[in-house]
Amino acid sequence: MSRLVAVSNRVGPIRGATRAGGLAIALVDSLKASKGLWFGWSGKIAEASSGATTERGGGLHTLTTDLTPQEHEDYYNGFANRCLWPLFHYRIDLTAYDRRYFDGYRRVNARFAQTLRPHLLPDDVIWVHDYHLIPFAETLREMGVDQHIGFFLHIPFPSREVLLTLPHQDRILQALMAYDLLGFHTERDCERFLDYAVNEIPGATLAGDVLCALGRKVRIKAFPIGIDAREYAEFVWTEDGQRQWQRVKTALRGRDQIIGVDRLDYTKGIPQRFLAYERLLQDYPATRGQVEFLQVAPLSRETVPEYATLRSELEHLSARINGAFADVDWTPLRYINRTVSRRGLAGLYRASKVGLVTPLRDGMNLVAKEYVAAQDPADPGVLVLSRFAGAAAQMKAALIVNPYDTVAVAEAMQIARHMPLDERQRRHRELMQGLLDYDIRRWSREFLGTLKETGGHGD
Ligand code: UDP
Repeated sequence: MSRLVAVSNRVGPIRGATRAGGLAIALVDSLKASKGLWFGWSGKIAEASSGATTERGGGLHTLTTDLTPQEHEDYYNGFANRCLWPLFHYRIDLTAYDRRYFDGYRRVNARFAQTLRPHLLPDDVIWVHDYHLIPFAETLREMGVDQHIGFFLHIPFPSREVLLTLPHQDRILQALMAYDLLGFHTERDCERFLDYAVNEIPGATLAGDVLCALGRKVRIKAFPIGIDAREYAEFVWTEDGQRQWQRVKTALRGRDQIIGVDRLDYTKGIPQRFLAYERLLQDYPATRGQVEFLQVAPLSRETVPEYATLRSELEHLSARINGAFADVDWTPLRYINRTVSRRGLAGLYRASKVGLVTPLRDGMNLVAKEYVAAQDPADPGVLVLSRFAGAAAQMKAALIVNPYDTVAVAEAMQIARHMPLDERQRRHRELMQGLLDYDIRRWSREFLGTLKETGGHGD
């Protein structure tokens, strides 16, 4: 059995951390099964980058390296989070391209690849994750590594016209061609990648799902990431899940709760969602005093300026809505910036009649899946889902909305609140079946299975 080497920007969190999500769990399973190695940034910033640290424990072998303050600024904050992140989410207006960031990004990727190189074995299968590490395989290939190397993009792949606005986008494309397998969340992402590659690389051809270009063959395939729905459903009954559920039930006193849960990020459409809720209160006066909207939005990437701007915008909007509509015994909108544990969230979802998941653009969106998994099948809540979340391609039994259309989102909240029980049950059954059919373990199994049968050893 070949050994799995997983490469991701951050290693873990793996030991019971509150936000240790499904991805970490799926990777840990596959890594343990193959006595694999997990490599990436330690999460620490140190004045001089001091080689790499190996750790073994709990059946897991990790190799991590620190970033210098300059590397952190250029590679992580700069090119990854101020350039690729907004651009791949269609926010050209927020994309801050800087040649220094791009050079730093390539330097860190090259250094990471050089750090991993001596630890590789001839039969390793290497799985690289996400937009921070696009050029990783290119350096490995330059050093003669011919093992199977796959890449999975956890964010959307943008359309060709959007990507063409990025200076040196051809370097990104060239770097992707160093892999044997490129995995995306949806068929649409694959189509956008192929449209870009076939039209921008001279001489590129496509045979089935294999792209031939620049002297290499790369397979392109969709692997929609899932969750462990059965396990997540059980989270409702954990101590954290029960505590949050009871707290909310007591606070609601029979009112309907609508819930939104997102990292505080401009891709998540939180201001538009607040506006849609304001519309609901304006257009349907009977909802006043009858509904409450809970938005959980833990702060993220606080040192990136665009996130601070979003934060002030949301503080302003939430104050405006509460100022206009609150009463002595009713707060229409509760907006909290603290992180809630995944178990605790299960309780909050269970107590909510409507799950409002309305990103402007999202690779997949796991909150949509977790909301469904936490519902009571006998009396489930309704998921209102943005058509621009990758999850919408699979979760067709949700109420699908355009997040920019605040009137339509307000209407969807009303439809969800008043949906008859049999329709709620039917939709929930269908959604839950989808989650069980393609769960997180199937996702990693299928990606690795495809990678092992694709390319490698200079094919
Ligand atoms: N999450 C959490 N606590 C919070 C908010 C979010 O544990 O307070 C988790 C949530 O349960 C989900 C993940 O963070 O598993 C968010 O994943 P998603 O795909 O929805 O969005 P991302 O943050 O990766 O863009």
